Amino acid sequence: MDTIAAIATMGARGGVGIIRLSGPDSLSIGQKLLQSPQSMWEPRRLYYGSFHSSIDQRYLDSGLIVWMKGPKSFTGEDVVEIHCHGGDLNQRRILEATLAAGARIAEPGEFTRRAFLNDKMDLSQAEALMDVLQADTESALDAAHAQMRGTLHNEVERVRKEMLQIISHLEVNIDFLQEDVPLFDPEVLASRMDDAQSEVEQLLKTFRQGKVLREGLKIALVGPPNAGKSSLFNALLREQRAIVTPVAGTTRDYLEEKLDLPQLPLVLVDTAGVRETSDPIEREGVFRSQQQIEEADLLLLLLDGSSPPPVELEEWMNPERRDRQLIVRTKSDLATHETWVTPFPFDLELSSETGEGVSDLLQSIRDRFALNEESVTEKALVTKTRHAGALKRTHIALSEAATALRSAMPFEIVAGEMQLALEAIGEIVGVTTPDDILNHIFSEFCIGK
Ligand code: GDP
Repeated sequence: MDTIAAIATMGARGGVGIIRLSGPDSLSIGQKLLQSPQSMWEPRRLYYGSFHSSIDQRYLDSGLIVWMKGPKSFTGEDVVEIHCHGGDLNQRRILEATLAAGARIAEPGEFTRRAFLNDKMDLSQAEALMDVLQADTESALDAAHAQMRGTLHNEVERVRKEMLQIISHLEVNIDFLQEDVPLFDPEVLASRMDDAQSEVEQLLKTFRQGKVLREGLKIALVGPPNAGKSSLFNALLREQRAIVTPVAGTTRDYLEEKLDLPQLPLVLVDTAGVRETSDPIEREGVFRSQQQIEEADLLLLLLDGSSPPPVELEEWMNPERRDRQLIVRTKSDLATHETWVTPFPFDLELSSETGEGVSDLLQSIRDRFALNEESVTEKALVTKTRHAGALKRTHIALSEAATALRSAMPFEIVAGEMQLALEAIGEIVGVTTPDDILNHIFSEFCIGK
């Protein structure tokens, strides 16, 4: 195994930067950079010193250096961290000095990959680490930390071990086929398969909530011009806890913004530009806004109650969207125009001007998507499509296995189905994940992670 090195604090302009080394030569490479290395180095102690190039003895910087002796380290190997001054060029010089002293530059995600290979974390925890680095809402960060602590890992491992045991009992039955009665009662085995299946189902049920916590709930503001879409957009922006980085892909056809509201991560889309048009370029814009509407988890149809109802009221009320559309009467600070039939079936009333009704709107969205539970981050949540896909395949194979067993199919066939189920669930934690998927997952990390 070679020794890898990278800037761990890449792109940061903080006062302190960290160069990380991992591998058997970490310690000796770290010591080569120090002018007067102590002969006795204790792990987990910080040493102060000045760093020099081991080639031409040029002074580089001064700072702290620490080593973590494997396997008690992030990667499970010997790890050295050099804490120097921040700044891209300063850090790069020290990195180059470690390369000249015998390290190799790390590939993206290589530290985490080594941690995974050395059983310091499973694949779901490695993926969670990436989510921690990328999270831009409080909910996404909480969900990522929970997964990194092993909430999903523990649940999946429990079911996987149970499945392994069922398989071993099937194999005993195969080995002792000549017995009059099978050694392990098929009905008992089948009902254990049912139990495993319902545990997988419970996990799958958390996916909708988990996905919302991780990616945000996509809400589109729709309605006729002047209904108050932009005003509500801005009113919600003011409720934010943290400034969130803009979502990539924002075009001028619609505005998209990620909002970090308390217990409500939102991706808010303002589809101001949606209207019929014959101009081909504009039509493309309309199409894209239309697509946003189709993909949204929830539509807020805004109608200005202080003016006469729009002529296309029927179209806006589109019954096909009824189950994912909230009808909101805006400008509630103004009197209702007399041309509205009363009572009109508004779900909610609000005013972006006075703020009245805005928190009720948020509360009703939280209720609708079960985002109120305090314990959300303490339980195992499925947040990723990859995990949900593997669980669905596990579920199908478990059901096939139980059916085969109950229809007195040969134990080999049943065991074959159980193997498929085992492989599917093992992809989540990384025991059966194909190499190309592993490569893909780790390549998405930045260098130094
Ligand atoms: P959009 O075309 O749907 O984005 O509508 P706008 O948000 O631009 O609002 C249209 C007009 O209605 C603007 O002049 C706003 O100031 C006004 N407006 C929006 N919301 C309210 C409200 O809650 N109360 C009052 N009184 N006026 C509002």
